[in-house]
This record gives sequence, C-alpha cells and structure tokens, in this order.
Amino acid sequence: MKQSRKKIAAKPIPSADVEDRPRRFLIGGIWHETNTFSPIATELADFHRYQYAEGEDIRRLYAGTNTEIGGMLAAADRAGAYLFPTVFAGAVPSGTITAEAFDYLVDLFLEAAAKPSAIDCVLLALHGAMVSARDREADAYFVERIRGLLGQDIPIVATFDLHANLSRRLVDAATVLIGYDTFPHVDMAARGGEAVEVALRLCEGWRPACAFRKLPLLTVPQMQATAEPPMDEIMRMVAAAENSPEILTVSVAQGFAYADVSQLGVAVVAYGEGKAPESCADKIAAAIWKRRQAFVPKLETPEAAVRAALKVKQGPVVLAEPADNVGGGTPGDGTLVLQALIEARAPSAAVVLWDPQAVEAARRLGVGGMFAGEIGGRTLKLHGPPLSVRGKIEFLADLTYKRDGAYMTGQTVRLGWVAVLDLEGIRVMLTSERCMPFDATHLRAAGIEPAQQHILVAKSGSAWKGAFGDIVTRAIYVDTPGIAASNIARLPYRIASAKQMFPLAPDLDWKPPGKVASKPATRSK
Ligand SMILES: [Zn+2]
Repeated sequence: MKQSRKKIAAKPIPSADVEDRPRRFLIGGIWHETNTFSPIATELADFHRYQYAEGEDIRRLYAGTNTEIGGMLAAADRAGAYLFPTVFAGAVPSGTITAEAFDYLVDLFLEAAAKPSAIDCVLLALHGAMVSARDREADAYFVERIRGLLGQDIPIVATFDLHANLSRRLVDAATVLIGYDTFPHVDMAARGGEAVEVALRLCEGWRPACAFRKLPLLTVPQMQATAEPPMDEIMRMVAAAENSPEILTVSVAQGFAYADVSQLGVAVVAYGEGKAPESCADKIAAAIWKRRQAFVPKLETPEAAVRAALKVKQGPVVLAEPADNVGGGTPGDGTLVLQALIEARAPSAAVVLWDPQAVEAARRLGVGGMFAGEIGGRTLKLHGPPLSVRGKIEFLADLTYKRDGAYMTGQTVRLGWVAVLDLEGIRVMLTSERCMPFDATHLRAAGIEPAQQHILVAKSGSAWKGAFGDIVTRAIYVDTPGIAASNIARLPYRIASAKQMFPLAPDLDWKPPGKVASKPATRSK
C-alpha cells in the first residue's frame, strides 16, 4: 500500500517556480462521519468536546500523532515548508451537523485562510461522509467555499476516510483526494504525509488527470476489513496500480451506508498521467463489483450469539454489535446484547454504554455502593429499552486518556465521569461522554482488563480489531436493529437511489463506463 509515493514524470517546471523558497501551505479541516438516521444533531459543542484546535494549537495537539494532521505536520516540516494553521474540528460520529455549527466552522476556516498571502497549496483533513443541514454534501460545499475564496489556481489536496461517500462535486472542487488504505484505520499519518508529497508536486505547476467511478453498491463495516477478503485483493490491486509510473494515487472509498444522501455508496478515485487513471479506476471498480456478494455479512441473533460465546472454552470472545457502533454515529446505549447476557447469566463479560444519567446516579452512591436503577436504552427505541439492574459500583472516576492503539495514536479522548457496575460478573462501563472504544485502554482506564473477560461486547463493525484483534479467540456478529445495522435492509432509507443499489436491489447489473468489465484492460503494463 502507499506508504511512500512513486516517482511520476512531472511536466517541465516553469522557471518562475524554480526559485528556492519554502512552500507555503494552509492546513486544517472539518471532520465528521454523519449518520443521518441519528436523532442527535451535531452541534458546535460536539466538536469542542472531541477534536478542536485553532491556529498554533493545531501543532500543539496533533504533532506526533497518528492523525492526518499529524502526518501533514511532520512531512511539511521535513520539506521545510511554511505552515499556516487555520482550524481543525472533528466531532464523534453522530447526526446531521446543524447549519449554525457548520457555518461557524466554515467561516472560521475562511477567515484564517484569507490572512496569509501567496499560499502555494491547501492541505485538508476531511472525512468525506459529512452531512450538514446547510448542504447534504457538506465536504463538497466546504471545499467549494475555499475555492471561492482562493480561486481555481491554488491546489487543494484533501485526505478522506475509507468510509467517505465521495461525490462528483467534491472530486471536482478538490485537486487531489487521498483516502485511507486501511480498515481498521491505521494509516492516517501516512496519508497526511502523502498529501504533502502530492502538494509539493502540484506546487511545481503539474496537474494530474482524474478518474472517478461511483458504484451502485452499499457495503457495511463488518465486511470492509482491508486485510481480509474480499477487500484484501482489492487493496493489492490498488497497491499494484500505484506502482505504475503513470499513476499518482488511487483510493477506494467504501462509503458510509448510514446516511440518507444521494452521494451514497462505494467509489474509486484515481489520479495520474493521461488516460491511465481511467483504465485503472475501471479495473478496480469492476473487481469490486464482481465481489459484491462477498460484502454481504453473516449475523446471529443476540440469544444465539451469547449461547455460542458461552460454549467457547477460552475467551475473550467478541460479540460485535455493528448496529450500535458509536464510530458509525449511533448513541452507543443499546441494551439488546446486554439483555441477552443477563438472561443467559453470563459469568464474565464487559459492555460499554453511554449513559450520563446513570453515571450521575452512581456518583451519588460512590464506589462500593449498590446501584439499583435503569441503564441504557435512552435514545432510540430501536436499540432496546432501558434495563433495570442491580449491581455494585466498582469504579468511579473522571477519565481522559490518550489513544495508544493503532487508531489515531496519541489523540486525547475524554470519557467524562465513568462508572463501572458489576452485575454478577457482567461489567457494565457507563460513560458520560459518547466515544468510540477503539483502544484496549478505553476499558483498562476504568479497571477492566480485556484479556480477563470471557465476553467482550464491541459496539463496532471492524474497528474493534484494532483494540482486541490480537487477544480474541472468536468473534460473533450480532444482528440487532439499529441505525448502523450490518443488515442494511433494516435501514429506513428515503432516497430512492438506495433501493436501486446492491444488495437492496439484489439482481442489479452494472459495468464501469470503460470496457474493462468484460475483457482485460488494453493499457495494462
Ligand atoms: Zn472510517
């Protein structure tokens, strides 16, 4: 995969640009994965609560982290470039961003972007599946506004998450888009570094050709792990394509199925010389389409999953519940799997639930107190009812930790006040802040050692592998209703196009616009 970029023959450098001066890069971004099925609107406070930095704080918070911004800072420093930090704001995946919050962030960015003179390139960290009440294609709107300010000539290089719902508007507004190559995501800093390398080439005046292919295909996180079939083969094709001297960079966006937007779905975007990106994008798009059946997940009911987990001799067994995946914008307070564990009297398990109200109740009782009351199920009926439980309060603290797994390493995560209840061996970790548990430290910080639990409930599609992949003996995927369900027939799409996409339209036929679907590419080397 693209750890470093290959050499590509650039056009002759115009003499005016040969002057030996440091490049001047504007850096920043707005990052959000929007689950439009969530009733929890995303406000400015949600950005402040998760990731937020203005000006020099960007360097203070992200230098040395495995984030896109961290990678951009390091590579720009290596290149001796001069950086103008603007604003970087990211919120935990949740519902549609309010127009007020989005306008505020866009205006703040544009204000900072208007200050420096003679910018050579804009470096942006985007997600690509951001939806705002201002504009349903919020990433595209943001880049268009930057274009509007800086004009057509200044290149804009943006990174995006593998879960982006890329649109033609975004592709047209940006000069080059570079997506993560990994899921679970571990290459954020590498992609930020690649963005700087690409930016340096663009500063020489060269502009690559771009090919963009959108597939009528919906896939779910559970089946998108890039080191496993069917994605591993696709990523090998991407890596091989990037070794070609005619290709600058290729990305596959798996899309984010939990958004009722017209830009929904899988996409391939390739950049390079002449017609090479076209045949490359067609070839990869055709290969993905050919494997579409392999993206359909296998799932068990909560009861069957718990029964199977209890039969496994050596744990930990992960019960993955993608439908309540905080990383996919859900509340993370769903109770259906916990209910099945309680009913089966599971002797050892750990579950994380977002429930500030229950945490408050636990704080009034203190460590060692006996909690008796309702937990979870407070946001959406779909995710199960609140459960009446009784259990000893084992742990109470106001927690903040630094991510130390492979995901966004070094990023600070605030959990707020946390309480752990012991329900006869089932440990329920209640958090005040809603945050995706992508590190083993997420549990350890609250005194729960993952390796010592027989069952770990992971409200996650694939990202849990980054935290627990090395220690689990088995993983079982659970089919619960929820706004990030792996069983996408459960999702309440209103846009007509979703129903015309595979797998909701199981017999759909599709071919990329080139002719590579039925015969080998004529341009392949
Ligand atoms: Zn993602």
